[in-house]
Amino acid sequence: MSKTKIKKIKEEKRGFEAEVAKLLHMMVHSVYSDREIFLRELISNASDACDKLRYEAQTNSDLVSDDTGSEIIITVDAAAKTLTLSDNGIGMDKEDLISNLGTIARSGTAGFAEKLTGDDKKDVQLIGQFGVGFYSVFMVADKVSVISKKAGGDSAHSWVSDGEGSYTIAEADRDAHGTTITLHMKEDAAEFLERARLAHIVKTYSDHIALPIKFFEVGKEPEKGMQETALNQGSALWIRPKSEISDEQYNDFYRHVAHAFDEPAFTLHYKAEGTLEYSVLMFIPSQQPMDLFDPARKSNVKLYVKRVFITGETQEILPGWLRFLRGVVDSEDLPLNISREMLQNNPVLSAMKKAVTNKVVSELEKIAKKDSEKFQAIWQNFGPVLKEGIYEDGERREALLKLSLFRSTHGDGWTTLADYITRMKEGQDSIYYVTGTDSTSVKRSPQLEGFKARSVEVLLLSDPVDDFWLQMVTEHDGKSFKSVTRSATDLKDLGDTPEKADDAAPEGDVVTLITLMKEVLGESVKDVRTSNRLTETAVCLVADDSGMDMHLERILKAHNQLDSISQRVLEINPSHKVIKALAESAKVEGALDSLADSVKLLLDQALILEGEPLTDPTAFAKRLSDAVAKGLV
Ligand code: ADP
Ligand code: MG
Repeated sequence: MSKTKIKKIKEEKRGFEAEVAKLLHMMVHSVYSDREIFLRELISNASDACDKLRYEAQTNSDLVSDDTGSEIIITVDAAAKTLTLSDNGIGMDKEDLISNLGTIARSGTAGFAEKLTGDDKKDVQLIGQFGVGFYSVFMVADKVSVISKKAGGDSAHSWVSDGEGSYTIAEADRDAHGTTITLHMKEDAAEFLERARLAHIVKTYSDHIALPIKFFEVGKEPEKGMQETALNQGSALWIRPKSEISDEQYNDFYRHVAHAFDEPAFTLHYKAEGTLEYSVLMFIPSQQPMDLFDPARKSNVKLYVKRVFITGETQEILPGWLRFLRGVVDSEDLPLNISREMLQNNPVLSAMKKAVTNKVVSELEKIAKKDSEKFQAIWQNFGPVLKEGIYEDGERREALLKLSLFRSTHGDGWTTLADYITRMKEGQDSIYYVTGTDSTSVKRSPQLEGFKARSVEVLLLSDPVDDFWLQMVTEHDGKSFKSVTRSATDLKDLGDTPEKADDAAPEGDVVTLITLMKEVLGESVKDVRTSNRLTETAVCLVADDSGMDMHLERILKAHNQLDSISQRVLEINPSHKVIKALAESAKVEGALDSLADSVKLLLDQALILEGEPLTDPTAFAKRLSDAVAKGLV
């Protein structure tokens, strides 16, 4: 073990960030009963630090030279009432100590801090739900000192705190890189100084840690054979047979690799043998990770080669649309000294990626078939990500379309495309859909009215990705996809609405009205025509036959991918009382002037319904007030 000593020179006292102080206050005064988790957190950090060193060493050859094999050492000094945990991982320099241990740097802890209610009882329960990383040491210790030296650096620093508002940073000595954390145990935490208790905790939470966790007691000769035995099994969990792994062990491993606090919704553990040999232990979380929609779309699966950690950041194991999976892939075929550069375009890796991706898809298919409730829960969280695959993975497009679940106008539940197709009406040869920004507004689209009236089911799509995959998919099972906001949709073929035709305005009058409306609206619309899509609303906008879907256009415009929105077609509902009244007045001389404001109001109304900006909101407000006044006076 390295000798450590805190030099009492150049000591700096610093206050914790406000949230940390709040959190620490809770830890210090915590009555949380499972405080043994502090050890799990320390071991997890030490193991991460060793992984990080290995990763850095790939590109910085200076770092490996003094790498003598990673290990974690726990030392107990019963007389001094201290527990020390030491690792030879990446270590921290002064800035790291300040930013990692003095502020809330990690998402899990931030999530925890956000949820704090100020009600001690409730907050204490949150510790179990989130885990609180390093700060959990203050549940058992009244003083904690961290001495750390960053690999490649030449000075060590200490960080000391009693968890009450402030900490001190000073220069210190440490022979080699790594971190030593000493806990001065609270009076009531003496149990954590006993070997048997600690061994039990390690077994419970950290058995899967791939580094040996060794144990020493100051002033005690190690019992025969005891000194070099590690407290943990130390063999990587993923290469152990499934039958020897309990659910709890899987869960703990998941929490460790994923830095998560939920339980996995699905665990995939298998070993591939044949041309390629590798082990896979992957999990689908039961909650959406915070960075799910991070534009970097980073994969979160760790790559190991023969049990040695290589990297946690490679795009070469899973495609972006499976980035919600967490876990480990361990290859027997890659060379141990594989560099980050070599990972790209590596034929072994691409073959593995293909096989693992196929396996995940086929597992999803199995879940969907066997346990639809479980699959729905997964889809609810990760469907929007999986649908990115329909867009970008031509090879698996069909498979993913088959898996996909959709909301539709048929009830509140999910539907597959296959189920939709069985409900299609006689004469219907398209799968109808409407896209929008959220499910409630999509459901209210006026363009749906005619479909509802004819009992034609429409898919309600409200994920941003929907507009994009729809560009790549022209048909499914011989049925084309059609937006209900396109003008070509011919609903007449699908039967008449229950509405009586004689309820509509007389045809000649409507033709006159349409001519008048075109004249009033000019360039602001592409066309005005009667609609068979509307039953309750007076007007709506639809895209021209040759045009792009309106919602897609708005997205592209918002991302500066389009200069302007194309002209819309205004459809009018001849059965609506406003249209009937206008058609009646359109015959009268001077109608063009007297009806101009009403016609413009109708266009504005259609724009509002569509969620598009009004060209002139002031003019709209004036026309609306005038119309209201006319009605009142
Ligand atoms: P998390 O492990 O989820 O990031 P923690 O609160 O457990 O959160 O730790 C905070 C940070 O402190 C870690 O992300 C890491 O950067 C740093 N850290 C903690 N322990 C060690 C260690 N033994 N060696 C190096 N860095 C560490
Ligand atoms: Mg941690």
